[in-house]
Amino acid sequence: SAKAAGKNQYSFYNDQLEKKLQLKHQLEKALSSKNDRQCFEIHYQPKVNTNTQQILGVEALVRWRNHDNQLISPCDFIPIAEETGLIIPLGEHILYQACSQAARWQQRGHQLSVAINVSTVQFEDKHFIDTVKSVIESTDVNPNLIEIELTESVLAKNIEHAKQLIHDLKEIGVNIALDDFGTGYSSLSYIKDFPLDTLKIDQSFVKNMLHDATNLTIIAAIIQMANGLKLSVVAEGVESEEHAEKLSEMGCPIMQGYFYSRPIPEAELTEKYQLS
Ligand code: C2E
Ligand code: MG
Ligand code: MG
Ligand code: MG
Repeated sequence: SAKAAGKNQYSFYNDQLEKKLQLKHQLEKALSSKNDRQCFEIHYQPKVNTNTQQILGVEALVRWRNHDNQLISPCDFIPIAEETGLIIPLGEHILYQACSQAARWQQRGHQLSVAINVSTVQFEDKHFIDTVKSVIESTDVNPNLIEIELTESVLAKNIEHAKQLIHDLKEIGVNIALDDFGTGYSSLSYIKDFPLDTLKIDQSFVKNMLHDATNLTIIAAIIQMANGLKLSVVAEGVESEEHAEKLSEMGCPIMQGYFYSRPIPEAELTEKYQLS
């Protein structure tokens, strides 16, 4: 009956809410002590140049190992961390871990770039630039190896603020990538108004490109625009050889996706790509 269905709906939302509150509580606990931050692991997903078959860099992607030893996806806890402001200490931890790792590779003679995702809440934090500066200084990493990944929604929120901040980031020497490009608030003025280095083609376009001419056309347009504006372009979500071949044919040899590797722990990546 409708009434029973309503009741089920109610308990569904109740369960969801309960789960979210539990997660929030666990997250608060994990971030309250500096020692517990080790439960936030950074996995690294390679960016490959298919022309040379070389790894150019990696994207740092956070995972949370909870007290039951389960690995929790960032999609499940980043939004909660943003809502609660816990993304600030967490983001600083991620930045520090990722820059330290880039510095270790650099010391071993591997010039691997490391891309780090930054959310709106972090970007709006007034200490953000100082945090980036001090992490780069204390890890002694070449800032040119660090790429900050922003989404269009981060830029759209406050254009003047974003302009200033990106200017300050470029001054430090880090690179700027526009993540999930083509989704959200796509506006070509972002590309004109911000000194970006890289466009990352959103995986939704890549996913459907072989069966849907519209997606293929959009990808072709992004590649052409990036080339014309001398921006790097990276395709995300490359899951098969067919995708890789097509993208390379279209002039986008730099790609990231399960076809090459899932995001993996540092030790596994070092082994796989002989980075020791
Ligand atoms: P994103 O930055 O767009 O990262 C790409 C996501 O796509 C990652 O999911 C990655 O594992 C996944 N992916 C990569 N290749 C493939 C593929 O071939 N097929 C499919 N289906 N997926 C692929 P993940 O690690 O679950 O992260 C999800 C999102 O969470 C990220 O999207 C990013 O927005 C956010 N996130 C992850 N780590 C961080 C972080 O350290 N800080 C912040 N602020 N956000 C993060
Ligand atoms: Mg990203
Ligand atoms: Mg993305
Ligand atoms: Mg994303």
